[in-house]
Amino acid sequence: MSKSLTIAKFGGTSVANYAAMQNCARIVVNNTATRIVVVSAAAGVTNHLVSLAHTPMTQEQIGEVCNAIVAIEMAIVDSLAEPAAVLPKLNDLLDEMRELAYHEEILHRDDLKDQLLSMGERMSSLLFSAVIAEQGQPAINFDVRKVLRTDSEFGEAVPQLEEISALSQRLLQPEIEHAIVVTQGFVGADEQGKTTTLGRGGSDFTAALLAEALHAEVCEIWTDVAGVYTTDPRIAEKAHPLPELSFEEAAEMATFGAKVLHPATMEPALRKNVKVFVGSSKAPEQGGTWIMRDCEHEPPYRAITRRKDQVMVTVKTPKMMYAQGFLQQVFGIIAKHRLSVDLVTTSEISVSFTLDNPANSVAQRLNKETIAELETICDVNVEHGFDLVTVVGNHMQTAKGVSSKIFAAVSQYNLRMICFGANPHNLSFLVNESDSADIVQHLHKALFE
Ligand code: ADP
Ligand code: ASP
Ligand code: MG
Repeated sequence: MSKSLTIAKFGGTSVANYAAMQNCARIVVNNTATRIVVVSAAAGVTNHLVSLAHTPMTQEQIGEVCNAIVAIEMAIVDSLAEPAAVLPKLNDLLDEMRELAYHEEILHRDDLKDQLLSMGERMSSLLFSAVIAEQGQPAINFDVRKVLRTDSEFGEAVPQLEEISALSQRLLQPEIEHAIVVTQGFVGADEQGKTTTLGRGGSDFTAALLAEALHAEVCEIWTDVAGVYTTDPRIAEKAHPLPELSFEEAAEMATFGAKVLHPATMEPALRKNVKVFVGSSKAPEQGGTWIMRDCEHEPPYRAITRRKDQVMVTVKTPKMMYAQGFLQQVFGIIAKHRLSVDLVTTSEISVSFTLDNPANSVAQRLNKETIAELETICDVNVEHGFDLVTVVGNHMQTAKGVSSKIFAAVSQYNLRMICFGANPHNLSFLVNESDSADIVQHLHKALFE
């Protein structure tokens, strides 16, 4: 095990086309410590695959979506100096994709859906290994399913850490001695060898899991922005990159909607103290954000995040007034359906909580069965149309004046729920989705400009 191993992950826009892939390949070959490269599907491909797996379509419509994917992949192959070297393998993958897309059970079988969703990463990793080879470095395309063992919860599979570590050391480590290994993010396999996926945006998580398994020193996340910013630069023009962040702050930001990192990415990094770097594959010279255990500063406010598509569930029963165990029953049902609750408020006869319900997700979240089961013990009211806005920082419950400054900035808006004090790193508001961008902008102005 090399102490100086770096794992580099490139997201969808970074591998969207041949020119973008060339930028990434330069980043890889310029750092001799980089021996493992994890790639996402080319931008847009996973969204197309999700629609094939989830939306009923006519044969003609299926054909159109498949053609859109073929066009993205072929544009890259056509730019290669030696397309013939990868074309047969790419055609095999495209055949597998079409077979799954037209499979009569694709809308009903979660195992087939995950196999279809894996195609984007399997194609981009094949093509990216060819682009690295063009730059004069030996490179291989490695099937991550040999090492990334998960459970069988298709769509949101849970990595099995001990197996991943043992398999990576046995099967992946020897490969990096003689070649740069290009592998797939987001994809895994269960004990039977069936293909699984880790949830949308999961390639960051894959990179961190492999970094943990092989005791890498650094895990680089190369994306379309030059680091983690004070807030999403698409929402606030004056957002600026943060030179450093602690693992806790980054984990909090990722959990509460900073899409630049998948929410689970920091867990493996924290366990094995792997430093995480976030930077722009288009402009690596701009530097980026270092995420590590010990930061020089622990400011009370570090960043603002927004998570869209939040659902608020209110459960109500007059029996709750003197009843013990009602909360346990409610959360028992929620846990049984594998939903995770974020904000909770309770009153005499009712409990409200929020759930993440992202559009375009792979696994179905709040479903009819969950609601029906809750309805056997109480009245249930489900409201949509909310976003969660979170201020992330340090020592927030004890720092004087922190909350008043934040509340002053949002005073003109209707706040449906507030969560403060449960941990030192955040203050969250549930707000109407139509207000959330304004709220983020106001908060950003008050705290960072
Ligand atoms: P990739 O395809 O490389 O994984 P993503 O689209 O998943 O990229 O994540 C990058 C995007 O995350 C950025 O373009 C930006 O709009 C968004 N984002 C949200 N919050 C932040 C933040 N705090 N800092 C930087 N980017 C953010
Ligand atoms: N391609 C997958 C997605 O779009 C995983 C990733 O990009 O991280 O969700
Ligand atoms: Mg991402």
